[in-house]
Amino acid sequence: MDKPYQGKLLLNEPLARYTSWRIGGPADRLYMPADKADLVAFLQHVDEGEAVFWLGLGSNVLIRDGGIRGTVINTKGRLKTMQLIDSATIYVEVGVPCAHVARFCTDLGLTGAEFMAGIPGTLGGALKMNAGAFGGETWSIVDTVEVVSRQGGVAERKKSQFDIAYRSIKGLADNEWFLSAVLQLQKGDPSSSIQKIKGLLEQRAETQPINKPTCGSVFKNPQGDYAARLIESCGLKGHQIGGACVSEKHANFIENRGDARAEDVEALIALIQSKVKEIHGVQLHTEVCTIGEPG
Ligand SMILES: Cc1cc2nc3c(=O)[nH]c(=O)nc-3n(C[C@H](O)[C@H](O)[C@H](O)COP(=O)(O)OP(=O)(O)OC[C@H]3O[C@@H](n4cnc5c(N)ncnc54)[C@H](O)[C@@H]3O)c2cc1C
Repeated sequence: MDKPYQGKLLLNEPLARYTSWRIGGPADRLYMPADKADLVAFLQHVDEGEAVFWLGLGSNVLIRDGGIRGTVINTKGRLKTMQLIDSATIYVEVGVPCAHVARFCTDLGLTGAEFMAGIPGTLGGALKMNAGAFGGETWSIVDTVEVVSRQGGVAERKKSQFDIAYRSIKGLADNEWFLSAVLQLQKGDPSSSIQKIKGLLEQRAETQPINKPTCGSVFKNPQGDYAARLIESCGLKGHQIGGACVSEKHANFIENRGDARAEDVEALIALIQSKVKEIHGVQLHTEVCTIGEPG
């Protein structure tokens, strides 16, 4: 790149510190944009052949030990504008943490985003994953989104232009990412939203190892069942490979016990899949996104 940019560019940057699993080899280049315009300008000047990846809060990715050949755009702490644009409509940039969206709506007396309170990712990651919890899911409150292409072209898309499914959406082109969204909420009562959030957070703390390095649920729930139930019934709670261990608290979580490598996690994922298939005849599919080169 020969053009100036205002964000922060780091070379050969280890990515473990950018993921909730605390796992991941180095990125050739990690870019933290100054703002939306700067990010667009940066993309316009990234070399044609360079691979580009996006990372929000890294709470749903497994980055392999060999790291990432190419440029990683990291929106953590960036692209964080959030505004009320109408009585029950808000504009949110993708670097805003989901918990802040929930709080912002509650403070404004808007209901519908409470489920986001305990999701430890950015709005961008939540849009990509159609993140959800306790009956709510991200795309149920989306009105429109703004996307950016690999070349820095920006476009607005309506919700109807996407196929929305459980923990996934179709409709983003390859090398296209979310920049912002307009979310549609309803008028509500702040105190009941606060109570709801409190209840959801308590329930999470009781059932999930929220203080351990994990990526949340590793597998999607199969139709009509729960991945955690299937894994637990195979006797896999506490099963460990290297530093990666099936959580004793929630069997669909894999904890990094301190020195886990991505290859430990991948081996544990493969073992869980084969045991669940052998015992229950069910193929578990991962929710977590695995990227990068083997170590
Ligand atoms: C303790 C814990 C609890 C969790 N609980 C839940 C839960 O209840 N429900 C749930 O759904 N998930 C849950 N998760 C998983 C995770 O928090 C969500 O999937 C979250 O939405 C991911 O956001 P992120 O910013 O961390 O994305 P990342 O992990 O950084 O990225 C995830 C994917 O999104 C892509 N991405 C990131 N930003 C953008 C963007 N702007 N445009 C396009 N693609 C983008 C990345 O390239 C990657 O493919 C949990 C995770 C943890 C650690």
